[in-house]
Amino acid sequence: MPEEISPTQLGSRPKLGDFDAVIIGAGMAGASLAYELASHMRVLVLERESQPGYHTTGRSAALFSEIYGNDIVRALSRASRAFLEAPGAGFAEHPLLTPRGTLFFAAAGQIEQLHALHGEVAPRSAVVRWFEADELRGRLPALRPEFAQAGLFEPDASDIDVHALHQGYLRGARQQGATLICDAELESASYVRDRWTVQSRAGQCSAALLVNAAGAWADDLAQMAGAAPLDLAPLRRTALVFEDHQAWDSRNWPLAVDIDEQLYFKPDAGRLLASPADETPSPPCDAQPDEFDVAVLLDRLERMTLLRPKRITGRWAGLRTFAPDRTPVAGFDAHAANFFWLAGQGGYGIQTAPALALLSASLILGKPVPDRLAAQGVTAQGLSARRFERVQPAEN
Ligand SMILES: Cc1cc2nc3c(=O)[nH]c(=O)nc-3n(C[C@H](O)[C@H](O)[C@H](O)COP(=O)(O)OP(=O)(O)OC[C@H]3O[C@@H](n4cnc5c(N)ncnc54)[C@H](O)[C@@H]3O)c2cc1C
Repeated sequence: MPEEISPTQLGSRPKLGDFDAVIIGAGMAGASLAYELASHMRVLVLERESQPGYHTTGRSAALFSEIYGNDIVRALSRASRAFLEAPGAGFAEHPLLTPRGTLFFAAAGQIEQLHALHGEVAPRSAVVRWFEADELRGRLPALRPEFAQAGLFEPDASDIDVHALHQGYLRGARQQGATLICDAELESASYVRDRWTVQSRAGQCSAALLVNAAGAWADDLAQMAGAAPLDLAPLRRTALVFEDHQAWDSRNWPLAVDIDEQLYFKPDAGRLLASPADETPSPPCDAQPDEFDVAVLLDRLERMTLLRPKRITGRWAGLRTFAPDRTPVAGFDAHAANFFWLAGQGGYGIQTAPALALLSASLILGKPVPDRLAAQGVTAQGLSARRFERVQPAEN
């Protein structure tokens, strides 16, 4: 963990010092950027909660898939694979990725959609395989035959050890000199004479650069700092872990998702994790599962599969925060000086963290997009905060 200072040690509103960059939020976004920046500049990370992974980072389905999301998200995921496979000595005690596979399944009326996805991803994705009904059902016997007419299999998809990745970033940031302060909610930020003055619950500091890695709160934080919001939308998603009625040997099942993304499920440490893939708009908050979404999930499990939860052992919800075009935002604000956005990662913020952090650090340090990102099709323009600028109508 980065060097931690508790507010009680500091007394009330102490001076925390002068920094080159203050990052707000220590979820996957803030932690990964601190890791990439810390050897180049003095970095302070301020986190509101006492646990840095408390919000969306600690509530994901922990999947790495190169064919999930739009083209830009896929490029970021491909560009993140090398780091996740080999993060470097001492980053984590165990491999961050464990083979899982992803299997999109389709009913008879959805085969065209499956073909369309195949056509989109096949040219750039390492390997995807078409499954006819027999192979699909052999692979996933829990699917009801009418929903399992064809499948698209991505064998190289993996489970991510999210905790190890997050902790590896935080530990590595500290080893390079970054400071993390928890229980340090940002209260105000003002930019005067080329520097940010930042007030938090843990104390006051100044910095040349303010980074917005506040997840679901990113628009609120921008407004607090005098920047315009980007219309980011936090959308609630629910997940359950359960023991099934039937003793399936599910160890080698891939993550299964229907082509309309109404349901997904995968093995989870001897049990099954499932989600109705809900996207309910929500204000930024400590999201909790809603009984209605749980009922929808149980209904979809019954309609599409032979799974019958016997005992629910865990349930949670988290906010996936999307920009209007469902592409992450990594770049300087169009108007607010030295205000950098790393937000809107939607449902891909774990698997794309290595590439987004590297790109963001390069932009902040004034360097070109690294070759290994550019080689996968990642561009600064595609992720820029300035892409939302509205063209002003010409005056007569
Ligand atoms: C059910 C579910 C399944 C998912 N599955 C996957 C998946 O399989 N693969 C994948 O890649 N992604 C997945 N995601 C998405 C992924 O979890 C997110 O994209 C990622 O965690 C976002 O990280 P973050 O750091 O931006 O947000 P967060 O983890 O929410 O971190 C933001 C932090 O900012 C802090 N903060 C906010 N305001 C302030 C303030 N004023 N002062 C100080 N601190 C502040 C918050 O306390 C919070 O800790 C899933 C998400 C959900 C909910």
